[in-house]
This record gives sequence, structure tokens and C-alpha cells, in this order.
Amino acid sequence: MNLIISVFLLALFSSNTVTAQEPMTLLKAGRVFDGERMHADWVVAVKGRQIVYAGSLNDMPGLDFDTVVDFPGQTLMPGLIEGHSHILLHPYNETSWNDQVLKEPESERVIRATNHVRASLLAGITTMRDLGSEGAAYADVGIRDSINKGLIPGPRLLVAGRAIVATGSYGPKGFHERVEVPLGAETADGYDDLIRVVRSQIGRNVDFIKVYADYRWGVDNTAAATFTQAELETIVAITTSSGRPVVAHASSAEGMKRAILAGVETIEHGDAATQEVYALMRKRNVALCPTLAAGDAVARYGGWKKGIDPDPERIAAKKKSFKAALDAGVTICFGGDVGVYPHGDNVRELELMVSYGMKNLAALQSATSVNAALFHIDDKVGRIQAGLRADIIVVDGDPAEDISVLREIRLVMKDGVTY
Ligand SMILES: [Zn+2]
Repeated sequence: MNLIISVFLLALFSSNTVTAQEPMTLLKAGRVFDGERMHADWVVAVKGRQIVYAGSLNDMPGLDFDTVVDFPGQTLMPGLIEGHSHILLHPYNETSWNDQVLKEPESERVIRATNHVRASLLAGITTMRDLGSEGAAYADVGIRDSINKGLIPGPRLLVAGRAIVATGSYGPKGFHERVEVPLGAETADGYDDLIRVVRSQIGRNVDFIKVYADYRWGVDNTAAATFTQAELETIVAITTSSGRPVVAHASSAEGMKRAILAGVETIEHGDAATQEVYALMRKRNVALCPTLAAGDAVARYGGWKKGIDPDPERIAAKKKSFKAALDAGVTICFGGDVGVYPHGDNVRELELMVSYGMKNLAALQSATSVNAALFHIDDKVGRIQAGLRADIIVVDGDPAEDISVLREIRLVMKDGVTY
């Protein structure tokens, strides 16, 4: 009899615990950017991990708040979604890419990545698409899962794993022919081999497949196509069968064209795109991740004194091709190749997008609602909207007027948790 009563009491206690009310917080700010436009009179209510109300204060239904937090004069907006990071790399002016891949033990790279993801989150990046472990196997998968398990703070990650390159195309290079070097990605060629490698990467539970559609292996180290059309189509067919997308590194017009026709969803870099390629991107709904900040950083590491020296040829060309992409109406993904430059300095890419001709509001959309849709996570994040996850940042000032105020972070909330 006693046992039965105890079980009954236990059940009662557990059900009470489950139905216990999660605290409700009301956030007020000078303005709210909802992922699309700026609103002057909005408030946002958060309960648990979710946004439960976003709209004007006057229209708000009667809600009981445990806390009200006011950010007068500041801007509340969705957490930023970085589209192209490498958490397992650190700036090349600290250690060259070759030396990171060749000499740093994986344990060191993972420890560095732990710092990188924390820096990213505190910089307001609540979601991040990582474009390849660059020789660190599937460490990105483990880091993604560690963040999801709450072991370390970091953005919600979408990871590529090892990435796929054609034999002979990728580095590190330049060694005696009998020296075996670890590569920055996994090689595969031809129908059978590509099927096996794509499936093995999928089996490691990557979120998408990254392929290098071209690389600097042409004459005089120019970017030249790597995989054939048929090879790229094989990669896309096998990957999409598993419900995952393919994204492509491509700088040359031919590499871009092949990747777009094969069915990739985003083109990374895209430096030498032509009008024809941009038209094809529009037609096939393929977005461009321009990685402006990587080119800017590499030029500076090479000795360019920005603001004093004239633009090097590659920077001038990049400005022109980015403007042409905007004029052609190509969807722009916010993705800077962060890792080439310091993690947490992601705003560099947005500053360059604006300085190369993009409107502030369009850059803000790119970093929130546009990237969320591109990465198929717009049912969870990317907007300040009831029903979505409470991924919220507050910045000091108005980023629609001055994009650099995104550096002045006053609040970072991911999944309703403040960091
Ligand atoms: Zn990259």
C-alpha cells in the first residue's frame, strides 16, 4: 500500500515538474529588425527557447512577464548566420595554411576551434555553416555535437566534414614525389569512387557535402576546373538522395558553370564569374558566398596597406565582380571565409559587402533571413517571429545606418539562453 502511494506521489511530483511554467521575458529595444525590415515600435516576448510574440506593443496579447529588459536606442535583431567559416583554421598571418594542415596536431586544432566557436557566438553569430575541416577529419562533426550537447558554448553548426577534391588538385603541395602529405580534403575520382566517398562522408553525419569544382592547379597556378560535369552530377545525385545539399568552391567561370548545372546550392568565392554565369545562377536559384573578407585579408597579409596603397588587381577585380552579381540580382549569402582572419571578426564581411555596393538592409537580410532560407533552417531561425527559436542579438546603434555597429554587441541569446 505504501509503495502504491509513493508511486502515486512520485507521478504527481514529476507531472508538476514537467508542466512548471518556463519564465517569460519581454525584450524592448529602440528598434527591431525582424530579418526583413526595421520596426520602430516592436517588442519581443521569449519563453523558454522560443519567441512567443514579436510585434507592436499595442497589439500584444495579455502575457505575464517574469522579466522585462529594455535596450533604449539599441537594435534587437535575429542572431547572425555566418555562411562560410573554418573553425579548424586560424589566421594565415599567424600560421600558414600549409603549416596548420601539416604540423598542428588534431588535438591542438580542436582546442583552437573550441575558442573559435565561443568567440563567434559572443560576436553575435548564433548559427554558422562550416565549409570543411581542412585536414582535421571529422572534428567539425564532433564539435557541432558537443555544442548541441551543451559541453561548450558555440553557434548552432552546419558542417561539411572533410570536403571532396579531385586527385592532384588540392594541397599542401610542393614536396618530393615520395613524401606522403596529409591533404586538406578527401580525394575521389570517377563514378564508383565518388559514390563511395560521398556516402562515407554522409555516413559521418555531415550536414552537407562540399566539393571543389575548381582549384588553383591550372597553368601558372590559375583556377581551373577539376571534376567533369558527369562527376559533379554523380556527387549531387548521391548527396541529394540523402536529403542533403551540395555546395561548391568555385572561382573560375567554367568551374562555377559546371557546379551550377550539376545542381549545387551555393557557389563559394566566385571571383571570375561572367554575366552568363550570373544569369545561370539566377535561373537555377544558386546563391553566391563571395568571401570578400578572405581576399581582403590575404591581400593585407601579402603587404597591401589598405587605405594607403591603391587596390591590388585582385581586390579591384573582386569589387567589380561583386557589384556585377548585385546588379544581376544574384542572391548573396553572407559568408566571409572566417578563419582566414580572426574568428569573432565576422562583421568584416558585412562591412565589405556594404563598402562594395550592397545596401545595409540587404546585407542584414543576407546575414539573417536569406542565409536561413539558403541553409533550409528558416523554420527555426533567421527571423524575429513567433514560433521560431529565440536566437536574438542586441547591438548598440542602428546597423541600417552604420553596419559596423554590429561590432557593439549588447546581448547574445541562442535558443533562449543568454551568453
Ligand atoms: Zn573556405
